[in-house]
Amino acid sequence: MESATPAGPTGASSPGATASLLFLGTGTSHGVPMIGCSCAVCCSADPRDDRFRPSVYVTLPDDTRLLIDTSPDLRLQAIRARIARVDAVLFTHGHADHVLGLDEIRRFNHLQRERIPCYADPATAAELRRTFAYIFDQQTPSGGGLPQIDLFPLVGPLCLGRHEVVPVPLWHGRRRVLGYRFGRLAYLTDCSELPEEAWPLLEGVEVLILDALRHRPHPTHFTVAQALAVVQRLGPARAWFTHICHDLPHAETTAALPAGVDLAYDGLSVEFRWD
Ligand SMILES: [Zn+2]
Ligand SMILES: [Zn+2]
Ligand SMILES: [Zn+2]
Repeated sequence: MESATPAGPTGASSPGATASLLFLGTGTSHGVPMIGCSCAVCCSADPRDDRFRPSVYVTLPDDTRLLIDTSPDLRLQAIRARIARVDAVLFTHGHADHVLGLDEIRRFNHLQRERIPCYADPATAAELRRTFAYIFDQQTPSGGGLPQIDLFPLVGPLCLGRHEVVPVPLWHGRRRVLGYRFGRLAYLTDCSELPEEAWPLLEGVEVLILDALRHRPHPTHFTVAQALAVVQRLGPARAWFTHICHDLPHAETTAALPAGVDLAYDGLSVEFRWD
């Protein structure tokens, strides 16, 4: 893991309205390396080519800790980053690579001795209730321990403590999913197009995190070139690409990107302004 990332209290002690985001996973749904693949990226010795499934951990200026998605790698992600607290979980959508670690929330219930609020758009909330029926079924024997969560449908901006988090609608193929705006940062994973109503919500964004799966076209994800076009239109000071597949070697790909745009990598922590 990258040494620049002591995780946990990253950035929380900074003065003023500064927040931080830690990349827990920057890989596509298979993760990198992929099972049974011996390509150059899957065999790379560069730790930045090791990509867990997509998730980030956001620390708000008031030290509220948000987990965005519960990836199938959540247990190892939390251990590696020494995450010991999750005040709320925000879901982007219900695909397996973004939700299948939900059961790991049990550990945070135990550490914090409290239920944990989860937020998702109504369609994703319904999907979570189906996928994780055992969590929501009152009849489930609680012997092994069940995640203690309160799932709230998200229909607009969300107030968390003193801060407002703004859901940003995205097209992920033909499916509507959510990105999120936190202060001057936007986290837009899993998208292939920005609907018109998303653009005004992204005005003034200084740090943009965007899906860039690979160079070859894909029906539900931006290519690197498509992601660069969004960066150009939005003009953030800094952009990071995520949801990266094994087609993209970190060093080589990053070297070819314009100034201020890079591939993100697991363990990277970025600070951003809230005001
Ligand atoms: Zn995904
Ligand atoms: Zn590979
Ligand atoms: Zn997806």
